[in-house]
Amino acid sequence: MPEGHTIHRLAARHAELFAGDKVLAASPQGRFAEGAALLSGSVLEATEAYGKHLLHHYAGERILHVHLGLYGKVTDGAGEPPEPVGQIRLRLTSDRHWLDLRGPTACELLTPPEAAALRARLGPDPLRADADPQRAYARISRSSTPLAALLLDQSVVAGTGLIFVTEALFRAGLPPTLPGRDLTRPDWDALWADLVELMTLAVATGRIDTVRAEHLPEAMGRPARVDRHGGEVYVYRRPDHPCHVCATPISRGTIATRNLYWCPTCQA
Ligand SMILES: [Zn+2]
Repeated sequence: MPEGHTIHRLAARHAELFAGDKVLAASPQGRFAEGAALLSGSVLEATEAYGKHLLHHYAGERILHVHLGLYGKVTDGAGEPPEPVGQIRLRLTSDRHWLDLRGPTACELLTPPEAAALRARLGPDPLRADADPQRAYARISRSSTPLAALLLDQSVVAGTGLIFVTEALFRAGLPPTLPGRDLTRPDWDALWADLVELMTLAVATGRIDTVRAEHLPEAMGRPARVDRHGGEVYVYRRPDHPCHVCATPISRGTIATRNLYWCPTCQA
């Protein structure tokens, strides 16, 4: 599933393509025909990302909510759109650009109170200027749930997925199984600051890189990572490979049905 940086990039991209323009909406596949008809002809005023949720704000208080889920994909381009191929839930077109949305978990219109309710059920998003990390710590510090599971819970922190969570825990030297209530306030402050840094970098580059300069392939004389996610990481999907820091084989386990990766030495 795309992590929060991808959604923030989409929000910025969609503002670049359509903001200030009248947008025509259609649902070639038909499953969003009614919503598209209500939306069509409205001017896009602003876009917003909150965690893994994308919002388009149109004139007349119309709000489009998209959650890509596991399979959602967005494509776009300039000029005339291509002939519709496959299951296009939503197609947006303006005089200048087009955009196709396929396979989302959610594609719906929200009223302003419904959008407010959506934001209210999400934890702070490290990529948002209005994020309050204290809200997340209040939840974490009174829970016996493993820290990794808490950080993956979108109502605790929004936008973080498996890569950011496993990598930030490695960088912090914290075991993923640490009960939330055992996380100290200084450790939380450092972990939050690191998530902000890693995720902000990912928004800029479009990939997740978490490896410090001294552990990069060229610095260590090791081959670069080959993975469809791109980016250099310490533990994510590196089971049994030597830790870049201490050479201990990386462990794999599951928490709350999610695969987890950690270094048993660096994160003891
Ligand atoms: Zn290690």
